[in-house]
Amino acid sequence: MTARILDGNAIRDQIYAELEPEIGELRAAGIQPGLAAVLAGNNPASEVYVKSKIAACEKLGLGSWLFTLAESASTAEVLRLVGELNRREDVDGILVQLPLPRQIDSRRVLEAVDPAKDVDGFHPVNLGRLVRGEPGLVACTPLGVMEILRRSGIATEGVPTVVLGRSDIVGKPMALLLMHANATVTICHSKTRDLAQIARRADLVIAAMGRPVMVTPDWIRTGATVIDVGINRIRDAAEAARIFAKFPQRLEQFRQKGSALVGDVHPDVAEIAGAITPVPGGVGPLTIAMLMSNTIKAARLRRAQTTGATAASPASGH
Ligand code: NAP
Repeated sequence: MTARILDGNAIRDQIYAELEPEIGELRAAGIQPGLAAVLAGNNPASEVYVKSKIAACEKLGLGSWLFTLAESASTAEVLRLVGELNRREDVDGILVQLPLPRQIDSRRVLEAVDPAKDVDGFHPVNLGRLVRGEPGLVACTPLGVMEILRRSGIATEGVPTVVLGRSDIVGKPMALLLMHANATVTICHSKTRDLAQIARRADLVIAAMGRPVMVTPDWIRTGATVIDVGINRIRDAAEAARIFAKFPQRLEQFRQKGSALVGDVHPDVAEIAGAITPVPGGVGPLTIAMLMSNTIKAARLRRAQTTGATAASPASGH
C-alpha cells in the first residue's frame, strides 16, 4: 500500500483563505490584530522561525513587532518587556521564542504573559482550560495536527490512538485534544516499554519525540494514519544514504545541500500507512497557520465587547 500524503502546505493555504475575510471584518471594525514576537539571543534556528512568523503576519495583513534582546539579557529584562506588551492595547498576541538563553527563567517568563494574549497556549491558565475542555488558546502545533485530521476526513472518535512524546508544548496538549475528540489515547514516552508493539495497535499514530526516523514500518499497522511532528536535521552522508535508500531524489537533494530535514518517522512508513504527513511540508506549515489563527482569535475575544465582532476562526472549537 502507498499512503495518501497529507499536504500541510495546501491545508495551510486553505486556512489562510478562510482567515482573510475574518481579518477584513475586523479591519472594517477598526481592528488590526497584532502579534509581538520576543527574541532573546542569537540562536540561528530561532531567528529563522521568528522571521517566518513575522512574514506570515505581513502576508495576512496582521500587525507585527519583533523585539530583540541580547544573548546576555536577564530574566528581569524579559519580564519588563512582557509586562509592557501585556499593557499595550494594540498587541493581541505575545510570542516568546523558545529556547531562551540559559540564564533566563523561561517558566517565569511564560507565566508572565497575559493568558488573553498567550497565542502559544503555554500559560498554565490556558493549559488548565484545555484539560477541562473549555475554550481558550491552545498550543499551535497540536492544534495544527487536529486541523490536518479534520480537513483530511480522518476520524478520531473511538479510534485507538498513540501519541509518542509527552512534552508540554506538543505531546500533552496533543493527547488532550485527541481525547476531547473522543479518540482512545495512549501516551508514550522515554520510559515506555515495547513502544513498537503499542504503536502497532493504533489506527492513528502521532510521533513527537525529536528522534530522527525512529518510527519504522514494523511499528505501524497497515492502513494506519501517521502524523509526523518531528523536525530533525541530519548531516551524516551514510545516515542519509540509509534513510533515503528508496528515495533517490531526496538523497540527491541531501548531497547538494549537505543536510536534510527528516521527521521522527522513517520515510519507508509511507509503504504501509494509509495516510502520512511528509517532513518537510506536513505539520510544520500548520504551526504558523495556527499562530495566525490564535492571534485573530485573541484579538476577537479581547476586543469583542467593544466591537461586537463575532466571526469564528478555524480553531474556534478550542
Ligand atoms: P521534547 O520536549 O524533547 O519532548 C520529547 C518527548 O519525546 C518527551 O516526552 C520524551 O520522553 C519523548 N521521547 C524522547 N525520546 C524517546 C524515545 N526514545 N522513546 C520514547 N519517547 C521518547 O520535544 P518537543 O518539543 O515535544 O518536540 C518533539 C519534536 O517535534 C521535535 O523534533 C521538534 O523539533 C518537533 N516540533 C515540531 C514542530 C512543528 O512545527 N512541526 C513544533 C514543535 C516541535 P520523556 O518525557 O520521558 O523525556
